[in-house]
Amino acid sequence: MEGEWVWVDSDIGVPIGARVTVTPSGQRLLVDDEGKQRSLAQEQEASLRIMHPTSVEGVDDMIKLGDMTEAGLLRNLLLRHKRGLIYTYTGSVLVAVNPYQDFPFYSGDQVGLYHGRKLGELPPHIFAIAESCYCNMMRHLRNQCCIISGESGAGKTETTKLILQYLAAISGELSEQQIEQQILESNPILEAFGNAKTIRNDNSSRFGKYLEIFFNKKGVIEGARVEQYLLEKSRVCHQALEERNYHVFYCMLAGATAEEKKTLNLGDAKEYKFLSKGGCIQCDSRDDAKDYQRILSAMKILTFSELQSNTQNNLETSDVSKSQHFSMAASLLEVKRSALAKSLTEHSFMTNRESVIKPLSADQASDCRDAFVKAIYNKLFIWIVEKINNVIYKKLTKSPKSSFLSIGLLDIFGFENFKTNSSAGFKVKVLFGVPQGSDATMLNKMNQQHRRNKNYVSSRSEYDTDFGVRHYAGIVYYDSKGFLEKNRDAVSSDMINMVKKTKNMLLQQIFEEELSTNNVKISNNKKIVMTPNNSLRFRQSLDSLMKALSACQPSFIRCFKPNNEKQSEAKLCMRQLRYSGMLDTIRIRKLGFPIRHTFEDFLKRYRVLLKTTVCDPKTETAAACCEAICKTEIQGEDEWKIGRTKIFLRDAHDAILERLREEK
Ligand code: ATP
Ligand code: MG
Repeated sequence: MEGEWVWVDSDIGVPIGARVTVTPSGQRLLVDDEGKQRSLAQEQEASLRIMHPTSVEGVDDMIKLGDMTEAGLLRNLLLRHKRGLIYTYTGSVLVAVNPYQDFPFYSGDQVGLYHGRKLGELPPHIFAIAESCYCNMMRHLRNQCCIISGESGAGKTETTKLILQYLAAISGELSEQQIEQQILESNPILEAFGNAKTIRNDNSSRFGKYLEIFFNKKGVIEGARVEQYLLEKSRVCHQALEERNYHVFYCMLAGATAEEKKTLNLGDAKEYKFLSKGGCIQCDSRDDAKDYQRILSAMKILTFSELQSNTQNNLETSDVSKSQHFSMAASLLEVKRSALAKSLTEHSFMTNRESVIKPLSADQASDCRDAFVKAIYNKLFIWIVEKINNVIYKKLTKSPKSSFLSIGLLDIFGFENFKTNSSAGFKVKVLFGVPQGSDATMLNKMNQQHRRNKNYVSSRSEYDTDFGVRHYAGIVYYDSKGFLEKNRDAVSSDMINMVKKTKNMLLQQIFEEELSTNNVKISNNKKIVMTPNNSLRFRQSLDSLMKALSACQPSFIRCFKPNNEKQSEAKLCMRQLRYSGMLDTIRIRKLGFPIRHTFEDFLKRYRVLLKTTVCDPKTETAAACCEAICKTEIQGEDEWKIGRTKIFLRDAHDAILERLREEK
């Protein structure tokens, strides 16, 4: 029929929508969702699948979709996205499609609108999820968490900030205090030091974050605590093409006054090797100078002292010659130049009888320098997080944990499936702890160890450098080239001995652990400081995260990226749909009773079907009427259930009832 919607095959791997139209000459055609015309041959006509009315119009909760297939979900998301509706529910899971533009979605008015309303009462919104967490926490006195997932650039960090903004606003209505502001201000600092421009996202988080917000029994925010996971250290010394080092460097160099720069002996970003390896200094969407002021004001609010704000890691020892940079590094590290030179160029170790000093090659010396620089930055980042927690959390440690309720927000790095996945190198380190050796020996070791593991795909030949891991959404191949380099971060004992001599209190403080353990292992071929095993520590912090999360009532938010340069919108979203596992969630629901209507809604829609029953709506309850309709129209007792306020149906019956309704 003219105007009717159907599903047709497409080249994106799932069917897309198409509409029957009739040309002025009377020829019938299909116009698909991409705007292409298709002929409507008779044989084809027989195989066309009619689109469920819910898919034609789109629904705000995908559980209500009649065509609950990948194609159905995809069409619904894209349809809504085109109309500027970025949020859609799938039951209680919120899907957020990145709008990449400022919408007036998040004003104080919007906060007021969603506050006190139930999930589903108003159009889908991130504030509705935040409200539902808050409300569940207050009503059931149960800790909550929001798990925010999606690929790089999909909007996880922005989503986290919006939830925090909402919670701070409703807490702020109840009491006047500073703490909400202080928690909000931790973001610009963490982002300055932990985010960077990548090819996928101009503000990509290069660390994982769990922010736990604590409330008193009245629902007022009392404090919060940040936990960080695995900052990407390699970025400090190396950036891929078109990527940058951490924002803070560029911000400082662009935003500090000429006078300040002179005092600190700073030049322009392009003069520094560590800041220009990606060939990218400027980032179009960012204003580094303005951000610098923002960072400074946030640091003030979080009580960083001026001296601390100025203590930047701009260590740049391109080689160990007596360059200007070298002298500056020595002065910033507050050690004698001779001590720094020695630690960078020499390797001391014990033989059986005596201590020996061997010169390092230029390559070894630069490795040694890079490891030190990475360690400084990583430790500085951890120190900053601690410093923030001192302000926003310390006060709470005096009271027992049970006196607070909490909402945790998890913003963990997105899954990125690139052509080469080498950034995931840390996993290998977790497994093997290989400070020495080559990429090839590591790969060899892995191939042997995991030969029988069905989730591991060995390299095809001994000349191949890649291996695969079967993840949830399929096999991902990793290139082992450069894995060790990325993870080589053991600081040499010579370096630690140099740090022992520094007068710089901050440097001493961040290397406290290494300085206090005499656990320096020196032997012929090993030259590593035995700090508490980093991979072990990471595993422990993940374990404790899992424990914390499993004790909470979770809410899920899935962020989607609607476009990038390389793939069509539909294709890109399709991939994310698969990776997100949403269809599986829905399939599981299909095994249950995914269709649910209140008695009133059901009766309103299917009242015509009452005619075939003996039930009189004037004398019977709504529930009884619904029951009567189902008894007459649906075969099989196990196909529907009557609840207290709702009627539950198996998936297929929605479509059947719709058809019956139209026939009547
Ligand atoms: P990564 O894993 O790389 O850290 P991410 O998922 O955290 O990525 P975000 O940094 O949150 O991604 O989002 C990327 C960009 O998308 C933001 O800088 C912003 O420009 C835009 N964006 C995301 N969400 C929204 C939103 N709700 N409204 C407007 N713009 C948004
Ligand atoms: Mg992020």
